[in-house]
Amino acid sequence: MHGVHEVAGSSPATPTERSTMIKKNRKGKIFYELTKEECRQLNKAADDALKNTYPTGGDGFSVAVMTESGSIYTGVSYISKTQTLTMHSEATALAHAAIHGEKRIVAITGPNCHICKQLIYESSLHSGIDVNIVIEEADGIKQVPISELMPYPWPEK
Ligand SMILES: [Zn+2]
Repeated sequence: MHGVHEVAGSSPATPTERSTMIKKNRKGKIFYELTKEECRQLNKAADDALKNTYPTGGDGFSVAVMTESGSIYTGVSYISKTQTLTMHSEATALAHAAIHGEKRIVAITGPNCHICKQLIYESSLHSGIDVNIVIEEADGIKQVPISELMPYPWPEK
C-alpha cells in the first residue's frame, strides 16, 4: 500500500481531463481553486492518516496534498526523541508526492506552522503554482494562496 493517494480518482488524470478544480491566473502564478468536494476529500484523507503518525498513531499531525494530476498524498508527523530531527507532516507529505514523481503541488491542508509555510512556499517557487492552503474553520472551508501568507518572502524569487 502506498497510502490514500488514489482517492481523488480511479485513474491518473491529466489537468486538462479534469473538470473539477478550476485553474486561475493569479498575479502571474497559477492558482487552483478546489471544489467543495475536493476540499472535503483532502481533509478526509488528512484525517484518515492521523492514525499513522509515528511512532504512536493518533499522537501528532497529519496533512494531505493534492497534485496537479489530481492525486492526493498524505503525510504524518514523524517524531524523533531528539525533537530536532522530528519531521512535520507537511514535509513527509511533500516527500511522499515527490517519491511518486509528483512535484507540482496544487493544495495542502492547513493551517501550517511557519517552517512548513516556507517549504510550501519554496514548492510554489519551483512549480509556479501558488499553493492553495485549505483550512477548515467553524464557518466553512477557506482556500488561501500561500503567497498571501508570505508577505515578505525569502527567497524573493
Ligand atoms: Zn510544520
